[in-house]
Amino acid sequence: MVFSTVNPFDLSGKVAIVTGCNAGLGAGMATALAQAGCDIVGVSRRGPGNTPASVAATGRRFIDVRADLASIAPVEDIVRAALEACGRIDVLVNNAGIIRRCDALEFAPDDWDAVMDVNLKSVFFLAQAAARQFVKQQSGGKIINIASMLSFQGGVRVASYTAAKSGVLGLTRLLANEWAPRGINVNAIAPGYMATANTTALREDAERNEAIIGRIPAGRWGTSADLAGPVVFLASNASDYVHGHTLAVDGGWLTR
Ligand code: NAP
Repeated sequence: MVFSTVNPFDLSGKVAIVTGCNAGLGAGMATALAQAGCDIVGVSRRGPGNTPASVAATGRRFIDVRADLASIAPVEDIVRAALEACGRIDVLVNNAGIIRRCDALEFAPDDWDAVMDVNLKSVFFLAQAAARQFVKQQSGGKIINIASMLSFQGGVRVASYTAAKSGVLGLTRLLANEWAPRGINVNAIAPGYMATANTTALREDAERNEAIIGRIPAGRWGTSADLAGPVVFLASNASDYVHGHTLAVDGGWLTR
């Protein structure tokens, strides 16, 4: 066995596309990848917020790309913008996502389509566009999809979200099967209950909030900082032999 002194988590010189880079988990993961050495192509719908400053503080570049992933129309433009600015792509983090809550008996077609379009359809077509570029570069690459506890569990009142996130887990496996031979790692991170805008309604409901914390072995909501290590690992050479895995980062929720 050859012992290497090279840091396997070093991402210096790599280029990462992060969707939904302006808020919550996406902002945290963009910053963590920059801290590990990546230039960040940050995709946002309404502007990148504080993320350019967080990335600049690490000494890495931030490329600002605006796109509404409710449709797949911007997919080619995102890849083109990354290539124009950076010349290559190494990592895609498919993070942008939405949730709609309603009893299944009342669930509206619009709330089905909106979630499926952002959380599943755009995820697939962005992965396809990134993988085509990895093949063209003959470089391999890393695709990290953001799944959920509802990739493993049913949940309540979130029919389209559960369907989409369960789909993300399956899609992650399928893409790994097809692309692992090309040196492309496709994996997912399944965050547990994280304190972001996505979960404001749950945290503001005192009863749900108490029930959720009471069931998390770690005894607290997660934060975007909890995803820093996992996202860097899955973007780095340290995970070169990890394919099709959905990594729960959940304070132990699923083991309960
Ligand atoms: P968040 O704070 O609501 O952030 C969601 C991000 O997605 C925002 O940047 C948002 O942009 C972007 N986005 C939504 N719709 C978009 C669209 N049509 N086009 C482009 N960008 C769009 O929520 P978060 O918790 O950080 O969620 C990030 C990911 O983690 C999502 O996939 C979510 O499902 C997943 N997740 C979250 C949790 C949790 O507990 N928070 C748990 C499991 C999984 P705008 O600011 O413009 O809306």
